[in-house]
Parts: sequence; C-alpha cells; structure tokens
Amino acid sequence: RDGEVGKAQQAAAAGEEAGGQPTIFSKIINRTIPATILYEDDKCLVFRDVAPQAPVHFLVIPKRPIPRISRVSPQDTELLGHLMVVAARTAQAEGLAEGYRLVINDGKHGAQSVYHLHLHVLGGRQMGWPPG
Ligand code: ADP
Repeated sequence: RDGEVGKAQQAAAAGEEAGGQPTIFSKIINRTIPATILYEDDKCLVFRDVAPQAPVHFLVIPKRPIPRISRVSPQDTELLGHLMVVAARTAQAEGLAEGYRLVINDGKHGAQSVYHLHLHVLGGRQMGWPPG
C-alpha cells in the first residue's frame, strides 16, 4: 500500500498515533535530514512538502512534537494560533493571492501518516470540495 491512506493505516498499525516517538519531522527540525525551509522561528518551522499535491504545498509544524490535533491541550492555544498566523503569512509570501486550502489530518480516518502535528497549506490551483 503506497498511497497516503495506506501510509496512514500503516502508521496507525505501528501504534504511532499514540505519539511519543520522534518522527521524520524531528529530523527536519534538527537538520538531520534536508528540507526546503521557508520560515523558522523559536516555536515553529515551515518547509515544502516532499510530495506536493498542488503547485504550492508546504507544512507548518510546531518545534515541540505534539503528535496530533486531537491531543492538544488548552495550554497549546497560543501556539496553535501562531501556527495559523504563520501559515497565512507564508501563503501570502508564496503568492497565493487567489486563496488556498489549510488542512490538518488527524488519525486513521483523517489519513494522518506522520504523528507530529502539521498544517498543510495547498494552493496554486482550484481545489475541489468535498475532499476525498
Ligand atoms: P498524508 O501522508 O496522508 O498526507 P499527513 O497529514 O500525516 O498524511 O501528511 C504528512 C505529509 O508529510 C505528507 O504530505 C508527506 O508528503 C510529507 N512528508 C513526509 N516526509 C517528508 C519529508 N521528509 N519532507 C517533507 N515532507 C514530507
């Protein structure tokens, strides 16, 4: 199963959805593996998705490894707001003046495959609705 849903099912089967283990995104944060980084500050990192699903597709992640949106706590409120503001500002910097899609996948049904919270920003083409 090579599709995104297959990857998400494998991640769930491996118990990764519980969180607590470092993911590939930790290696991007600490520069163990390369990524095209668009923005960074003390709380978050923004980089291009390695398998873009639109002409522009980047990810916004907190440096602190929250595994998934369904595991956030009230103390994360300010951080989550910051991620969304950074997503919007980076979309503007990427020239997405016609709009874009902001997505958070959670868990098996959400087809999440990397259990380090991330906001997808997709743009540069007309999106459809509903998503698959
Ligand atoms: P899905 O894989 O179903 O999209 P997620 O919402 O967990 O599930 O998204 C993980 C995203 O991370 C995918 O879009 C994938 O292409 C991207 N990705 C995985 N590894 C890397 C990497 N090394 N660098 C950049 N993006 C990556």
